[in-house]
Amino acid sequence: MDVNKKREVIKHCARLEDVFTWKKYASEKKLPPKIDMLPANKIDNSKNANLAEKISIFCGDITTLEVDAIVNAANSSLLGGGGVDGAIHRAAGPYLKEECKTLGGCPTGEAKITGGYKLPAKYVIHTVGPKGEKPVDLKSCYLNCLKIMLDKNLRSIAFPCIATGIYGYPNENAAHIAAYLVRKHLEAHADNVDRIIFCLFLDVDIKIYEGLLQSYFPLN
Ligand code: ADP
Repeated sequence: MDVNKKREVIKHCARLEDVFTWKKYASEKKLPPKIDMLPANKIDNSKNANLAEKISIFCGDITTLEVDAIVNAANSSLLGGGGVDGAIHRAAGPYLKEECKTLGGCPTGEAKITGGYKLPAKYVIHTVGPKGEKPVDLKSCYLNCLKIMLDKNLRSIAFPCIATGIYGYPNENAAHIAAYLVRKHLEAHADNVDRIIFCLFLDVDIKIYEGLLQSYFPLN
């Protein structure tokens, strides 16, 4: 469907240009105290100026975002579930499930792409987070989603807080993984990316990401 036609049909839709970059967001909002990076995580500070404009915090419903791809924290059946998965399937309409049925499920840590159907996003990248705190699997979710983004030439993507809901991954530990892997991806591929959005639904995550991004995406 033509993008303008889609916009008429979808009433609540946040366009990429309306989502503040981290640079603007951080300059206009009173932020909570900074949370330090994990000591093992190393960033290339020479790239800071550019990268703060490549990421965003968006507080709200991921199904409203008009980006190239939104990430679904799915279960291994890929046939829908609760939380963000349920919200994405409801907003995308029944053809999303029909396409998901053809994919044969998805193992933990891997990712598969489908169309976005009635969503404002063009694509959905479904990934299956670990049940409980399994960092190798959670890292693999982020890396596989970012790899699909790169391989398919998608320039904007929004991540929910994968595995931190029903699957019970501790929020702050999960956020370190998300922020660090996104940072390293952008250090290597900034020219291929317009924006990577951390889509936050809970106040607890907003506070964590506002604290953490000050370390992973410093502004000065
Ligand atoms: P998981 O099973 O991977 O833990 P959940 O859907 O239970 O997935 O939770 C993942 C995160 O998604 C949680 O932070 C939850 O609050 C959030 N979430 C739930 N609904 C939405 C939504 N519509 N948009 C964005 N995030 C959402």
